[in-house]
Amino acid sequence: MRIEVDTHTHTVLCGHAFSTVEENARFAKKVRLKGFTVTEHGPAMKNCPEAYHINTLITVPDYLYGVRVYKGVEANILDYEGNIDIAPKYLVKLDFAIASLHDAVMDPGTQAQNTNALIAVLNDPMIDCIGHPGNPIFPIDQLAVVKEAARKGKILEVNNHSFEYRTGSRPFCNTLIGLCAEYGVRMAISSDSHFCRTLGNYEKAYDAMKEMRFPESLIINLTKKRFEAYLEERKVRITAAR
Ligand SMILES: [Zn+2]
Ligand SMILES: [Zn+2]
Repeated sequence: MRIEVDTHTHTVLCGHAFSTVEENARFAKKVRLKGFTVTEHGPAMKNCPEAYHINTLITVPDYLYGVRVYKGVEANILDYEGNIDIAPKYLVKLDFAIASLHDAVMDPGTQAQNTNALIAVLNDPMIDCIGHPGNPIFPIDQLAVVKEAARKGKILEVNNHSFEYRTGSRPFCNTLIGLCAEYGVRMAISSDSHFCRTLGNYEKAYDAMKEMRFPESLIINLTKKRFEAYLEERKVRITAAR
């Protein structure tokens, strides 16, 4: 099965990744991706760009080598109230916005605190997707998060990078995938690429989805068309909230 859009990728701009947008686009073309989202970290992570990089990100062409380049961000969640490090005036300009918990930015809280942070973020109309919610370093009440994502029409991510980098993620991702299937929550499979040659690499994430028999109909980035329909949903949601 081919996933047409990679929803989560990084570039040299963040200080800890190794490829440019240009290189990412070239490799995306090579592996026949139809699109990818540039989702740089927010400024609360060390060496990552200030939010105003979003003002210039939008000057990157929408298509490179025939591949659609969506403009996004991976905001850092800053506290257990779910505050994030990208202001709405920037988020509104983007095609897609992820928010994630990172231990390089904040200390993991109790299960209740981490859950509280994610539920608050799911209620932020500017945020579309929770990045790597299966990270065992940040234990959460998965059922509560999945139910809130269902209520708000938000996306939870299965992050391929987690299976290599965030050790112990697999069992947490599996139960999350199972709950999302049960409650009809849409999921994104992403590479979270930090080097161009890992764009579109979702092997382990897809394995987990297969194991849990996650329905393809709920994979938001399976086709470019389906992903773009979600981006329209985002626009409607943001307009309604303003
Ligand atoms: Zn992340
Ligand atoms: Zn990332």
